[in-house]
Amino acid sequence: MQVAQQRAFASRARTVRCYAIKDGAALDRPLRVAVIGGGPSGACAAETLAQGGVEVALIERKMDNCKPCGGAIPLCMVEEFDLPQSIIDRKVTKMKMISPSNREVDVGKTLSETEYIGMCRREVFDDYLRNRAAEKGAKLVNGLMMRMEQKENEGPITIHYNSYEEGGKVGTPASMEVDLVIGADGANSRVAKEIDAGDYDYAIAFQERIRIPDDKMKYYENLAEMYVGDDVSPDFYGWVFPKYDHVAVGTGTVVNKTAIKQYQQATRCGGDACLCFWGGWCVFM
Ligand SMILES: Cc1cc2nc3c(=O)[nH]c(=O)nc-3n(C[C@H](O)[C@H](O)[C@H](O)COP(=O)(O)OP(=O)(O)OC[C@H]3O[C@@H](n4cnc5c(N)ncnc54)[C@H](O)[C@@H]3O)c2cc1C
Repeated sequence: MQVAQQRAFASRARTVRCYAIKDGAALDRPLRVAVIGGGPSGACAAETLAQGGVEVALIERKMDNCKPCGGAIPLCMVEEFDLPQSIIDRKVTKMKMISPSNREVDVGKTLSETEYIGMCRREVFDDYLRNRAAEKGAKLVNGLMMRMEQKENEGPITIHYNSYEEGGKVGTPASMEVDLVIGADGANSRVAKEIDAGDYDYAIAFQERIRIPDDKMKYYENLAEMYVGDDVSPDFYGWVFPKYDHVAVGTGTVVNKTAIKQYQQATRCGGDACLCFWGGWCVFM
């Protein structure tokens, strides 16, 4: 995030701090906010609020969550969110969009000589943003938000969550009181359910990380591929994106979620770069 923008966010956050919470009276303490979900939205919200003096708890159920997302980040995002080079696994300048009849368009052609598309792993990206929020003063909580309640629609909101702070898969029931809640818990949001946000469309995605022989990996050194067509997804796209020491192969859909595995199989076996034929073996697991 650019400095001017950060300042604008911070001053807005300070305004929030003085917000009258009860009976029109200003608070004599920092506003307490729980941000549910430590993905990019939640981490950035927590960072901005903490920077503005708000007391923030950032609750994330899985600190090493590898969200099945392409993880391609455009250059403008690197600048706007002040992202370090260390979170970028690879920089590609070729991005092919491939049609069902194997016609190709190199989307990367519009990049200038100094530009690239960053390829990152989401667990690395999200972890970096969460830690940056913590450095600004946000409290990171490893827990699964279960429900929230507010008595007669006023006063503090109680967040009930399963704390994983002490390890273990089941967690320990815990709660905290806050003045505001930010739902940044993704497509299947419990916060949205709690506030009766209603139905909305969402995509599901499937992604595999596949280690391929070095000579095949060389093919993807500077290349990301996107496949379109009903076989890989009726409404989304399939992708083969090079990451740290592997390719991430995935697809997504909104309209036919039950067929996601079938679309994934078509993505890994599509076009010239069939991951099932290389070396004479099929990498489907
Ligand atoms: C198929 C597909 C491919 C995509 N590819 C790209 C791409 O290449 N580049 C790009 O920029 N964007 C891509 N996107 C979009 C990107 O994934 C989203 O915009 C982004 O992840 C949204 O971030 P978020 O923080 O809002 O939610 P999320 O990233 O979904 O984060 C939500 C977080 O909340 C946590 N959580 C959920 N429920 C709870 C709970 N009850 N308690 C505590 N924690 C909880 C989850 O563990 C998760 O960490 C893609 C999306 C899809 C579907």
